[in-house]
Amino acid sequence: MHAPGTSEPRMEASHPCDTIAPVTDDAILAGLDPEQRAVAEALDGPVVVLAGAGSGKTRAITHRIAHGVATGRHEARRTLAVTFTTRAAGEMRLRLRDLGVEGAQVRTFHSAALRQLRYFWPRLSGGEFPELLPSKARLVAEAASRCSVPTDMATVRDLSGDVEWAKVNFLSGEEIGKRAAEVRRTLAVPPPAMAAVLDAYEQAKSARGLLDFEDVLLNTAAALDRRPDIADEIRSAYRWFTVDEFQDVNPLQRYLLRMWLGDRDDVCVVGDANQTIYTFTGATPSYLTNFRRDFPDATEVKLERCYRCTPEIVQWANGIMVDGSPSSLTLVSQRPAGPSPVIQEWSDDLEEAAQIAAAVKAHIAEGVPARDIAVLFRVNAQSEVLEEAFAEAGIPVMLRGTERFFERPEVREAVTRLRGAARAGEVSGPLGEEVRAVLSAAGWTPEPPRTAGAVRERWESLTALVSLADDLGPGLEESLPAFITELDARAAAQHAPVADGVTLATIHAAKGLEWPIVFVIGCSEGLMPLSYAESDDQIEEERRLLYVAVTRAADRLTLSWARSRHAGGRASRSLSRFLQDLRVGDVPVAGRAGIAHRGSGRRRTERKQKAPARCRVCRKGLVTAPERTLGRCSSCPSDVDEGLLESLRAWRLNLSREKSVPAYVVFTDVTLIAIAEQRPQDLDALAEIPGVGPKKLAEHGDAVIGLVLERA
Ligand code: ATP
Ligand code: MG
Repeated sequence: MHAPGTSEPRMEASHPCDTIAPVTDDAILAGLDPEQRAVAEALDGPVVVLAGAGSGKTRAITHRIAHGVATGRHEARRTLAVTFTTRAAGEMRLRLRDLGVEGAQVRTFHSAALRQLRYFWPRLSGGEFPELLPSKARLVAEAASRCSVPTDMATVRDLSGDVEWAKVNFLSGEEIGKRAAEVRRTLAVPPPAMAAVLDAYEQAKSARGLLDFEDVLLNTAAALDRRPDIADEIRSAYRWFTVDEFQDVNPLQRYLLRMWLGDRDDVCVVGDANQTIYTFTGATPSYLTNFRRDFPDATEVKLERCYRCTPEIVQWANGIMVDGSPSSLTLVSQRPAGPSPVIQEWSDDLEEAAQIAAAVKAHIAEGVPARDIAVLFRVNAQSEVLEEAFAEAGIPVMLRGTERFFERPEVREAVTRLRGAARAGEVSGPLGEEVRAVLSAAGWTPEPPRTAGAVRERWESLTALVSLADDLGPGLEESLPAFITELDARAAAQHAPVADGVTLATIHAAKGLEWPIVFVIGCSEGLMPLSYAESDDQIEEERRLLYVAVTRAADRLTLSWARSRHAGGRASRSLSRFLQDLRVGDVPVAGRAGIAHRGSGRRRTERKQKAPARCRVCRKGLVTAPERTLGRCSSCPSDVDEGLLESLRAWRLNLSREKSVPAYVVFTDVTLIAIAEQRPQDLDALAEIPGVGPKKLAEHGDAVIGLVLERA
């Protein structure tokens, strides 16, 4: 019998050109600073690296593996490096290849455990390897229904999160309530019901012979714990262990690591307590910070030089953590000075998204590759307005850690409901009210839920649809069918997959990654920290999320926030407390002219140059974006030239077919109506209509003026 890890076909990404250039040990060590070198040279016994963001953790541990192999003190084939995502594992493999290491295993906890469990399964049970549950949702819903617990999608998703949390913490049904209270976790349902659901879920799963994600780790660790024959084989197959992002290890993963090690201590762990952002799933940085309690002889190295970010960005990152840092690390940038980070204040979410799309477009026009730019946000639903603004600006995007807005289950369900209501033809008021009524029947409430997680994400998604209805209503003549057509067009525009583009990602999904230019949106109270965060621990996790976001930026960082969710809405938001409190040197950042409000200052100047937005019929001030585009209140009579509107629509349809883009990408309905009402006779007059930017003016100006003059 072969040992695991040597008998199966290798599962790492295989590369067509598998010849690896020899790299000398001197070359391996030459690329390291003294502390990183100390990590690489600590080849025996336990090692803990406490390292700040961008300090070269991955670099240090990959070089350590390479140095161990090059000197013959470690065997590549008996080396296992564990990371948290398959993407991170892929990147580490590539770096090891570049260092001439062949045959080391780089895996996620899950894939490493799964491989071992599959291998030993015949000996453990004698049967076929069980089917793996790709998602808990179906069985959790079944269990919930059996326990008379609500089975709507959001509750099922939150219940699944609670089941996972209970399992990685080894909690029995009776212990769930007590522990949840200790860590101030809000469970989806009261503890007795939660215990019943957990029990019913486990029963349903084992009755069908299925394994979930946690079972893979639990069974592997249990096999190592209870079967000396299996433990011997695995431990002789893997001798040297490395774990990246150790601050986010949960009790179950740590148990598995201990089982892999047995009574040996050849383990190197790397992490940054300031970047702990998964405590809600059961992760804890205490394994990292107390590593020397478990391994008193461990070599401890601190990395505080930041090679990623400019000194300005590092100053801001340090400032954000100054009161809340769970580690004693202070980052020091190794890079030349760069531009100071900027906080921009915008009036509403739409304006924020549109301005960022414009800024991104300007960077791309200057020659910055789209893949060097990222826009980061706290919750999935924030991507909707961004996806929209980027589609309108014709900028390709790649989403990470979130589904495209219109592909999310709750959005699909909501659109189906709206379609049903539109078909039933029960339209009786402003579009926003219609949409509110339909979505209220699906459980939407005007007030946000008091929890994070799936319930909150679902609420945010539905609220994004309500906001869209409020914003578009007047332009769509308050018609639900027109709204559905608009949603379909937007979904189609966002659907197109791209190979390269600007990254739109949640901060969680951005962990470990870096980009030269980063925008962090939604830096306001309620989003950062998210309003659900009430306890000090929850607030501190939100602070660390902002720290992670800020330290993704290498050269340029823009933090922005919007005073209100809607165009014309009440300016109820305020700047994030993490930025209000932020001081660089002794100077409070939020009060520094030229930095803090550069965005809003510029915006105010731009506004000043334009005539105040007043209704050209009744002269009242205009509030909503569509009203501003139309130049009149939605309730004031329209003087639209129907014939012109028709010919504009026909022209737009032809063009959108020709270019295979949705019609609104050419011009939105509101803009067409505004043109058909105001009938601009030349390019200057056309440029006055909001929604006709310089690019659209250059592209379509002549055609549109041609159509207007034809009717004159
Ligand atoms: P994070 O905390 O975000 O996970 P990290 O500590 O893992 O960051 P790396 O991603 O390994 O940091 O490195 C950050 C950047 O700094 C990378 O672009 C890397 O190539 C560069 N870097 C690291 N160490 C050095 C060094 N000694 N000399 C030059 N560049 C370095
Ligand atoms: Mg890293």
